[in-house]
Amino acid sequence: MSLLQVEDLAIHFGGVKAVDGVSFSVEQGEVFAIIGPNGAGKSTIFNLISRVYPPTRGTIRFDGRDITGLKAHDIAGLGIARTFQNIELFDHSTVLDNLLMGRHTHRGTNFVQDILFLPKVRQEEREHRRRVEQVIELLELEAYRKKMIAGLPYGVRKVVEIGRALAIGPKLILLDEPASGLSVEETRDVAFWIEDMRRDMGLTVLMVEHDMSLVNQVSDRVLAMANGQPLALGSPAEVQAHPDVQAAYLGT
Ligand code: ADP
Ligand code: MG
Repeated sequence: MSLLQVEDLAIHFGGVKAVDGVSFSVEQGEVFAIIGPNGAGKSTIFNLISRVYPPTRGTIRFDGRDITGLKAHDIAGLGIARTFQNIELFDHSTVLDNLLMGRHTHRGTNFVQDILFLPKVRQEEREHRRRVEQVIELLELEAYRKKMIAGLPYGVRKVVEIGRALAIGPKLILLDEPASGLSVEETRDVAFWIEDMRRDMGLTVLMVEHDMSLVNQVSDRVLAMANGQPLALGSPAEVQAHPDVQAAYLGT
């Protein structure tokens, strides 16, 4: 059974068919990429999966369960984490605090519940801190631990954004253009980390990416879209060779 199954997904904003009849499934342990020109509907698919918007049509199943009707924080609780194309961190907090806060912003803390289940909460807190330390080590953020986000170079903030998502201990991570704005060296690091996430943390990765060298290097399968609709699905080589995909990129 696939970890994520998206069936005939659609959302229309007024007259704009941002996503219009997209189906795909992502297998456990897979790295799956969505590519396509600007405005293709890639980020909107992430917004539908993480339930920023309800879909106009279609279903989303995760781990065998229909999650189409759930709320955003329930979805995070099930083990789906995401990054944003435009980094969304607390600029006036440290790297460590941003990584620690990830869990609360996702879970939607309930003070009364926390008091009633104090031992369990403490246990979760310990596990979460352990995971944050793992993330700091994996993403090589030790030197930045106490630094304020606002003063950090773009490339480091981009990595912390990935770390914030990883720190909640997801089964599935959605990465929206993890390499955008990064240097060749930084992009190579992102490729290594994606491999590590899969191998050492057992994660499944769904990413949107423009950098085809990264897509080719890390993805098992690729879905190409344009104007809200699917164009091709297959191996990176198959998809790039597809005439409709080439036409979409050339604008012909
Ligand atoms: P991509 O990530 O592939 O570049 P997006 O998913 O961000 O594209 O956007 C797809 C289309 O949907 C664009 O035409 C965009 O303007 C439109 N769109 C996305 N979100 C909204 C929204 N909240 N309201 C209106 N239109 C939107
Ligand atoms: Mg986008």
